[in-house]
Amino acid sequence: MLKNDQLETWDRENFFHPSTHLAQFARGELPQRVLTGGSGCHIEDRDGNRLLDAFAGLYCVNVGYGRSEIAEAIAAQAKELAYYHAYVGHGTEASITLAKMILDRAPDHMSRVYFGLGGSDANETNIKLVWYYNNVLGRPEKKKIISRWRGYHGSGLMTGSLTGLEGFQKTFDLPLDRVIHTDAPYYFRRADPGQSEAQFTDQCVASLEALIEREGADTIAAFIGEPALGTGGLVPPPEGYWPAIQAVLDRNDILLIADEVVTGFGRLGSMFGSGHYGIRPDLITIAKGLTSAYAPLSGSIVSDRMWKVLEQGTDAYGPIGHGWTYSAHPIGAAAGVANLRLLDDLGLVRNAGEMGAYLKAALTEALGDHPHVGDIRGEGLLCAVEFVRDRDNRSFFDAAEKVGPTVAARLLDQGVIGRAMPQGDILGFAPPFCLTRAEADEIVAKTVRAVAAAG
Ligand code: PLP
Repeated sequence: MLKNDQLETWDRENFFHPSTHLAQFARGELPQRVLTGGSGCHIEDRDGNRLLDAFAGLYCVNVGYGRSEIAEAIAAQAKELAYYHAYVGHGTEASITLAKMILDRAPDHMSRVYFGLGGSDANETNIKLVWYYNNVLGRPEKKKIISRWRGYHGSGLMTGSLTGLEGFQKTFDLPLDRVIHTDAPYYFRRADPGQSEAQFTDQCVASLEALIEREGADTIAAFIGEPALGTGGLVPPPEGYWPAIQAVLDRNDILLIADEVVTGFGRLGSMFGSGHYGIRPDLITIAKGLTSAYAPLSGSIVSDRMWKVLEQGTDAYGPIGHGWTYSAHPIGAAAGVANLRLLDDLGLVRNAGEMGAYLKAALTEALGDHPHVGDIRGEGLLCAVEFVRDRDNRSFFDAAEKVGPTVAARLLDQGVIGRAMPQGDILGFAPPFCLTRAEADEIVAKTVRAVAAAG
């Protein structure tokens, strides 16, 4: 193996890392970690550190690291047939089986799966399908997409525009036309003093209705949202939110895209967030948990009503002009099949629900009264601790004084990875579903120490 300093120099001189302060990295001011292994909830680096990954990579290694069942399925597929495209009726046993397995688990009214590579391209596909749908129906003006502030939908041109987080937009001339943002359903930050969750939901709904009225329902094609906000702050919706939003969309003939890149395949303790919150989407975006990140693969699950129109469209216009070279890549599909089997065989979705409740309760017990902890929230294994300057008047620290990044750093000093979320002052946890009680206890005990050390 290369000496550490050689690899680190190559890293600094050749590798353009995503979401990284490029100048600081090039100057050697940021930590570099060369990862070498993983097992269960732990990863290892080449300096011999073993870390408890309480964010499952980027909330994606849901079945945990080192699963030989998935590795063997990938190897077998690579030996048998590493690649063939999926255009015009080509498939493999793995891709056809995976589409069936996804639909067996998805809400009943879903009809077909289009495969991509990552969450961003799946959402790009969804927007194109929505526009195509309205063109086929003879409504070329019905094209705007409503997204929410604090939503995260990817880093492409369109998906970066849908994303409602300043850091992903302001230096890239986004958002594009046709994207409009509505309120984040973020009760802790946005509710008025004394407002109940139900009243706050009414406020979000009224604001959406006003937006639709202003723009004109006949110009709006779809609404996109994560069942529970992920990157924007790990925020479960307030009471009654989704049924009320769905009713407004239905009344205005606006399609619903449920972006389940994080929530799909069990993170909330249910197979899909759509079922968890009683949503009936027209499209569901899936990625991360589909393969637990053992190989890149995403999908757009299309509802019956959309599928009928898509078929009608190809009868009118010919084959659909949308395809990726790596759609339904056999290796990704093989990983997906093995991953979904493992989720079932080990009862991991149930464990995500049970361990999520345990982790949230233990964090609340340990930190709920801390003067700088304003909110502890979560659903399944998506859990957040939000810091405040003052609990009583809900004031927040300035950007330079934020507590979350310091707590995450002190946690890492003790060998546990949590995530300081990119916006707000939030420490996030989204561990693999195989988390044990002992590991949850370790996360909590070390978080308490990290909060104390952050002062
Ligand atoms: N949608 C959601 C809800 C996500 O959280 C993400 C990534 O974190 C994406 C889309 C984009 O997925 P990818 O990074 O695979 O393109």
